[in-house]
Amino acid sequence: MRGQPDRPPISEASPDRLCAALDGQPTYRADQLRQALFRTSATGFDQMLTLPAETRAALDQQFRFESLRLLRAQRSTDGTRKALFHTWDGAAVETVRMPTERPGAATVCLSSQAGCGMGCTFCATGALGLTRNLTAAEILDQFLYVRRRASRPAAVDRAVFMGMGEPLANLPALETAAARLAGAAYVGLSARRVTVSTVGLPAGIDAMASWGLPLGLAVSLHAPDDGLRATLAPIARRFPLPALMEASRRYQQAVRRRVTYEYTMLAGVNDARAQAVDLARLLRGQRCHVNLIPFNTYPGAIFRASARPRIRAFRDELRQRGVPVTIRRTRGRDISGACGQLHAGMLAAGAGTRRSNGAAGGRAARPAAGARP
Ligand code: SF4
Repeated sequence: MRGQPDRPPISEASPDRLCAALDGQPTYRADQLRQALFRTSATGFDQMLTLPAETRAALDQQFRFESLRLLRAQRSTDGTRKALFHTWDGAAVETVRMPTERPGAATVCLSSQAGCGMGCTFCATGALGLTRNLTAAEILDQFLYVRRRASRPAAVDRAVFMGMGEPLANLPALETAAARLAGAAYVGLSARRVTVSTVGLPAGIDAMASWGLPLGLAVSLHAPDDGLRATLAPIARRFPLPALMEASRRYQQAVRRRVTYEYTMLAGVNDARAQAVDLARLLRGQRCHVNLIPFNTYPGAIFRASARPRIRAFRDELRQRGVPVTIRRTRGRDISGACGQLHAGMLAAGAGTRRSNGAAGGRAARPAAGARP
């Protein structure tokens, strides 16, 4: 898929652009088109059978149906599926489909950037640098690719921005993609089923609060103090905890939802009881929930995962202090544990996937996946 494409992807086309493409046709045609595009299993214009054949042919001449090309897929024994896509210019994008507790239902873990420039020291992606921001279509098409190929598309009903990249460093594309995922005229997920995970950019959190969508917000905290946090997530030097906590509180008030704090458990680094006490103090008075994430190691990682008893003790300490907390279930451990590793593995094998500032990407603590997405 190299070379500048001659047609734009249809999933991010504006309403005016779609209307122009349907010029001279009945007004209900635009609704039919959006329905076929965002809500059905059609994997090409030729399968949008609610539209006349000449309309499908005209759309095919004006737009690309999908902006991503599947390069590789893996499937875990636990049902998690992971896909590596290429964009038109060869940027690598990883997407994970995770089964949920509800039978047949699934969540899609989306990447917002190819690589990541945030440099978190516990993350495979962070070691690799940023290739580029993804476009809104490249984000949306990850979700649509998975949903269109599901046996029950409607059961793929959650999206989390927890893949490669920092979503709040790509705000325009994130806003368009989130609005379409949660828009009644588009994919139509409940905004409550779309969660954006950030390493902690206060201005981006404020921007999200202004969108009028009650999206879920997950803040990657990983430490209860700025000193330690800065060693794990260097961006914390620019945005220390007081500014981050204020932005988080503003978000809680604006959207009337609790915020999730993600805390990757690293052996001997951030998993002491005293740190749980500090964390409870930091979060006092907030509408929040803490998600303890067992570290998903990867080749070259400089950290080790906390032992299970240690994680449980940390959880219990938080609970005793009134902080709602759960331990995240790990998924897809048998298939390149962390996000970014599918890409990394292909690079190591000389498969020729493109890299710019570095190599592969992905959050070390993110769930991993498997075969057909
Ligand atoms: S944890 Fe997230 S923000 Fe940090 S380097 Fe990894 S992908 Fe980027």
